[in-house]
Amino acid sequence: MRDPPWHALRQPFFQLVRGLGEFDDGVLATQARLMQDEIAGDQGGTNAAFFSLFDLEPPADLKSWSRIADPVAARSLLLKVLNGPTASAFVAAKALATHPAAQRTAQLIEEALPFLCRESVLRATWALLSLVTEPETTALTLAKSPQAGIREAVARIVPTTDKGRRNALAELFAHDPNRHVRLAAVERARQSEPSQELFAFLDSIAQAPDPAFACHRCGTENSALSDSCSSCRIVTNRPSKEAADLVESLRKGVST
Ligand SMILES: [Zn+2]
Repeated sequence: MRDPPWHALRQPFFQLVRGLGEFDDGVLATQARLMQDEIAGDQGGTNAAFFSLFDLEPPADLKSWSRIADPVAARSLLLKVLNGPTASAFVAAKALATHPAAQRTAQLIEEALPFLCRESVLRATWALLSLVTEPETTALTLAKSPQAGIREAVARIVPTTDKGRRNALAELFAHDPNRHVRLAAVERARQSEPSQELFAFLDSIAQAPDPAFACHRCGTENSALSDSCSSCRIVTNRPSKEAADLVESLRKGVST
């Protein structure tokens, strides 16, 4: 549910992003005009002109809060946009992560988390962990949330090993009753430096019985033995297999 409607937030949100990123109005207007012309002439409808914008310059930092007249009102707006379309929610989270009142902003994001859709929870959790002074402590608290979407977000963002040693998250995620949380932890392990403790973490998932799962796309409940949804066929792999496969490929990488 989007309340108030997204179209009412768009204009103030774009203006806020323009201020935070110190974008030049003249340049923006010219880029928009050129892009509209190119899209109008693009018979194939490829949207290539639109995507070419992202190749022009590196992503802007959204941190010029000194240019914003009312940072409190701006923060309220950004918190609402977290429930908007995915790309805008991503930008809103990026802006929230640099808010000068870090502690209060983190608190408000944490309060908003249970009411956000899954993709927004991921972005908002990332912003929250960027703002707090002790991200390990906050991550551990969130990893015990009754809401699987919040645990999944933490598992996707925070590694289960720290300087090669398993941390407190490893034990929680290896035995999480939700399949998506375990899969997120395996996915995060893919980016970690291989270590004996990382292998031990993955082995504990590989050897544990897989949980049943609710499909992320359509919500259908599926059995523990399935690796795709019985309704929409979208694949949700078994964590035990994903973890075993990752151990095998990482061990090969280490031995070669
Ligand atoms: Zn499904």
